[in-house]
Amino acid sequence: MVNCTFCRIIRKEIPAAILYEDEKVVAFKDIHPVAPIHFLIIPKEHVEDFYNLNETNNSGILSAAKWLIDHHRLMDKGYKLEINGGGAQIVGHVHFHLIAPVGAPVDV
Ligand code: 5GP
Ligand code: ZN
Repeated sequence: MVNCTFCRIIRKEIPAAILYEDEKVVAFKDIHPVAPIHFLIIPKEHVEDFYNLNETNNSGILSAAKWLIDHHRLMDKGYKLEINGGGAQIVGHVHFHLIAPVGAPVDV
Protein backbone atom coordinates (compact mmCIF):
# COMPACT_ATOMS: atom_id res chain seq x y z
CA MET A 1 0.00 0.00 0.00
CA VAL A 2 1.43 3.31 -1.12
CA ASN A 3 1.43 5.36 2.07
CA CYS A 4 1.75 2.58 4.63
CA THR A 5 4.88 3.13 6.76
CA PHE A 6 5.68 -0.57 6.98
CA CYS A 7 5.11 -1.14 3.24
CA ARG A 8 7.55 1.71 2.70
CA ILE A 9 10.09 -0.03 4.95
CA ILE A 10 9.58 -3.23 2.92
CA ARG A 11 10.21 -1.28 -0.29
CA LYS A 12 13.29 0.35 1.37
CA GLU A 13 11.82 3.80 0.82
CA ILE A 14 12.40 4.66 4.45
CA PRO A 15 15.29 3.31 6.51
CA ALA A 16 14.97 0.62 9.16
CA ALA A 17 17.38 -1.67 10.95
CA ILE A 18 16.36 -4.87 9.17
CA LEU A 19 17.31 -8.05 11.03
CA TYR A 20 15.62 -10.69 8.93
CA GLU A 21 14.10 -10.84 5.49
CA ASP A 22 12.81 -13.54 3.20
CA GLU A 23 10.29 -13.57 0.36
CA LYS A 24 7.30 -13.26 2.71
CA VAL A 25 8.46 -11.61 5.93
CA VAL A 26 10.59 -8.72 7.21
CA ALA A 27 11.75 -8.09 10.78
CA PHE A 28 13.33 -4.87 11.97
CA LYS A 29 14.06 -2.91 15.14
CA ASP A 30 11.25 -0.85 16.58
CA ILE A 31 12.12 2.84 16.33
CA HIS A 32 10.92 3.45 19.92
CA PRO A 33 12.01 0.34 21.82
CA VAL A 34 10.44 -0.44 25.18
CA ALA A 35 13.13 -3.00 26.06
CA PRO A 36 16.69 -3.79 24.96
CA ILE A 37 15.25 -6.10 22.33
CA HIS A 38 12.16 -4.80 20.59
CA PHE A 39 11.69 -6.06 17.06
CA LEU A 40 8.72 -5.95 14.71
CA ILE A 41 7.92 -8.92 12.48
CA ILE A 42 5.63 -8.22 9.54
CA PRO A 43 4.28 -9.98 6.46
CA LYS A 44 5.36 -8.40 3.19
CA GLU A 45 1.76 -8.53 2.07
CA HIS A 46 -0.16 -5.50 3.36
CA VAL A 47 -2.55 -7.01 5.89
CA GLU A 48 -4.19 -4.41 8.09
CA ASP A 49 -5.17 -6.36 11.17
CA PHE A 50 -4.32 -9.64 12.88
CA TYR A 51 -7.89 -10.70 12.21
CA ASN A 52 -7.20 -10.58 8.46
CA LEU A 53 -4.30 -13.03 8.65
CA ASN A 54 -4.94 -16.50 7.31
CA GLU A 55 -3.07 -19.71 6.61
CA THR A 56 -1.58 -18.25 3.42
CA ASN A 57 -0.59 -14.70 4.31
CA ASN A 58 0.78 -15.51 7.79
CA SER A 59 3.28 -17.87 6.23
CA GLY A 60 6.81 -17.35 7.52
CA ILE A 61 6.02 -15.22 10.58
CA LEU A 62 6.38 -18.13 13.01
CA SER A 63 9.70 -19.26 11.60
CA ALA A 64 11.02 -15.66 11.46
CA ALA A 65 10.10 -15.19 15.14
CA LYS A 66 11.86 -18.44 16.03
CA TRP A 67 14.91 -17.45 13.99
CA LEU A 68 15.14 -14.16 15.93
CA ILE A 69 14.65 -15.97 19.26
CA ASP A 70 17.47 -18.38 18.37
CA HIS A 71 19.74 -15.73 16.91
CA HIS A 72 19.46 -13.50 19.98
CA ARG A 73 19.59 -16.46 22.40
CA LEU A 74 16.28 -15.58 24.02
CA MET A 75 15.17 -19.12 24.78
CA ASP A 76 15.85 -18.76 28.50
CA LYS A 77 15.82 -14.98 28.86
CA GLY A 78 12.09 -14.37 28.88
CA TYR A 79 10.49 -12.82 25.84
CA LYS A 80 7.01 -11.90 24.75
CA LEU A 81 5.24 -11.62 21.41
CA GLU A 82 2.56 -8.95 21.29
CA ILE A 83 -0.01 -8.07 18.67
CA ASN A 84 -2.26 -5.04 18.86
CA GLY A 85 -5.41 -5.32 16.79
CA GLY A 86 -8.97 -4.23 16.41
CA GLY A 87 -7.97 -0.57 16.28
CA ALA A 88 -5.49 -0.74 19.19
CA GLN A 89 -2.63 -0.68 16.69
CA ILE A 90 -1.05 2.61 15.63
CA VAL A 91 0.34 1.29 12.34
CA GLY A 92 -2.29 -0.39 10.16
CA HIS A 93 -0.05 -3.16 8.82
CA VAL A 94 -0.14 -6.17 11.09
CA HIS A 95 3.02 -6.57 13.16
CA PHE A 96 4.22 -8.87 15.90
CA HIS A 97 6.29 -7.19 18.61
CA LEU A 98 9.11 -9.39 19.92
CA ILE A 99 10.20 -7.89 23.25
CA ALA A 100 12.91 -9.13 25.61
CA PRO A 101 13.97 -9.57 28.25
CA VAL A 102 10.64 -9.31 29.99
CA GLY A 103 10.83 -6.97 32.96
CA ALA A 104 14.14 -5.36 31.96
CA PRO A 105 14.56 -1.63 32.58
CA VAL A 106 14.40 0.60 29.52
CA ASP A 107 18.05 1.35 28.77
CA VAL A 108 18.49 1.50 25.02
P1 5GP B 1 1.42 -0.59 17.47
O1 5GP B 1 0.98 0.27 18.60
O2 5GP B 1 0.78 -0.22 16.16
O3 5GP B 1 1.29 -2.04 17.79
O4 5GP B 1 2.98 -0.35 17.34
C1 5GP B 1 3.58 0.27 16.26
C2 5GP B 1 5.06 0.24 16.51
O5 5GP B 1 5.72 0.65 15.33
C3 5GP B 1 5.49 1.19 17.64
O6 5GP B 1 6.17 0.43 18.64
C4 5GP B 1 6.39 2.19 16.93
O7 5GP B 1 7.50 2.58 17.71
C5 5GP B 1 6.82 1.44 15.68
N1 5GP B 1 7.07 2.31 14.53
C6 5GP B 1 6.25 3.26 14.03
N2 5GP B 1 6.79 3.85 12.95
C7 5GP B 1 7.99 3.26 12.76
C8 5GP B 1 9.02 3.44 11.78
O8 5GP B 1 8.94 4.27 10.87
N3 5GP B 1 10.11 2.64 11.88
C9 5GP B 1 10.23 1.70 12.87
N4 5GP B 1 11.36 0.97 12.88
N5 5GP B 1 9.28 1.50 13.80
C10 5GP B 1 8.17 2.27 13.76
ZN1 ZN C 1 1.51 -1.95 4.65
